[in-house]
Amino acid sequence: MWYSGKEPIPGTVQRLFKDGTDKYTAMVKFDREVSNEPLRLTREGDAYMITVEELITPDMFGPTIHTQNDTPPAQSIIQAPQSPTTPSVRFDNIEDELQQIPQVMITEVNDELDLPPPFQEEEVNMACGFRRGIQCRDRSCCLETVLFSLFYTSNAFDIAMLYGNSPEEDSLTRNVRTILRREIVDPLRREGFCAWPAIKKIRDAVKPLSDEWQTLSTDAEVMMFILFDRALKLGKFISYSNEMSDYLHQLVVDTKDLSKSTTVQHLFETSLQLMDKLKLRTIPTPALIMEMPRSNDKLVQYKAVIPNLSLHISRVLDDGSRLCICGVVAKHECRKCSANFGSRSIVFCDNCKGTADIIHFQLTHQADLISLNQPIVIMDLAAILCVKQGHYSSFVKCGNEKFSPWVYFDGGEAENPKVCIEQNLGMWLDRLEKYPGKYHDALQYPLLTHILQDSHICVYQPREKSSSV
Ligand SMILES: [Zn+2]
Ligand SMILES: [Zn+2]
Repeated sequence: MWYSGKEPIPGTVQRLFKDGTDKYTAMVKFDREVSNEPLRLTREGDAYMITVEELITPDMFGPTIHTQNDTPPAQSIIQAPQSPTTPSVRFDNIEDELQQIPQVMITEVNDELDLPPPFQEEEVNMACGFRRGIQCRDRSCCLETVLFSLFYTSNAFDIAMLYGNSPEEDSLTRNVRTILRREIVDPLRREGFCAWPAIKKIRDAVKPLSDEWQTLSTDAEVMMFILFDRALKLGKFISYSNEMSDYLHQLVVDTKDLSKSTTVQHLFETSLQLMDKLKLRTIPTPALIMEMPRSNDKLVQYKAVIPNLSLHISRVLDDGSRLCICGVVAKHECRKCSANFGSRSIVFCDNCKGTADIIHFQLTHQADLISLNQPIVIMDLAAILCVKQGHYSSFVKCGNEKFSPWVYFDGGEAENPKVCIEQNLGMWLDRLEKYPGKYHDALQYPLLTHILQDSHICVYQPREKSSSV
């Protein structure tokens, strides 16, 4: 929950009371010390007692999804009964007296204040509903979907895209950054909604940089490139072992692969192999954005591509983990071999450690296996942007846990766009990843079909240390 007397402060509602009037009283624990804030609140131990004029509860947003006739039936199947979540409220005004505090004039200094954090798992019900997401107009939904995917439930791109203040920045870049931060991301996170005029503003601001920017047929990857490179002048996110760098990784397919379905992990490793056995020099930051192999509005070669919930990148990192003979990150080494040959010695995974004796048959010593501790670098799937007949939509994960809920934003032209919860999407993707050949089971559900066949861009973020996955 947030308080906006001066700036938002995240916190958690621990208890809610109704005292016979129209008002609620909330016992709130803020995430950080608020002693310097212009708050005159009653303290209860670590928490504060706040009178709430109007309580915003998830049911006030109306039915979250599945109300329109064209709603795919899959949603009700994907969605499981939701467990009760911690009550939380986002509101602008708390107490009458606080409303009278004069608004601080927006200055350059104030401009750099923290933005509201993105929606978290416990707020997922609030993140969903009518008038949520970004309003689309003029038959365009690409830029809107891209921005929704980067900022609604994630702050991975905040520092790079919203806070840069390099002295070399020209006025256009500064302008684009300011519109993004103040007029798009701030309302999007504060109210769950960003209205069309802000999108029009950023469109107009970037327009001089590229003829393609305003064209309806422009793809999301082109739009991202214009935004990252030309407008914001960001450094590249991916750095390859051949000195090349890029914002997006284009997945290249092995034409000899006859499988009908595959995973993003497999495609990613294969495409690096095919691109001259490239490796990654560093962990992609702030994210690894991958473009699916598509042509003529269809996936190339495969009937289904399954986005892995987690992408293991240790074995494609230059100077990354040492691999077993089978290609998996090794967990065991032979003490004597390591002493003799150092990092050139053969190392083994759990499955292959049984072969150590056979391999040692030709050596002058017996295998003496000890465990080899290597860091495993994992990136987590944060967003899937889909496209079908030029129409964009996106799934973004709301939370850091493996099975955190997902939300779905369909950037259709709508006065009041909707964001829908997809509680069990993580479970489905996990199952499909384990049994990619069973993709048929998922194709009976339109939303899963949309992911498996219409995915266009996947965004993977470096795993947060706090994550318990
Ligand atoms: Zn040995
Ligand atoms: Zn192995």
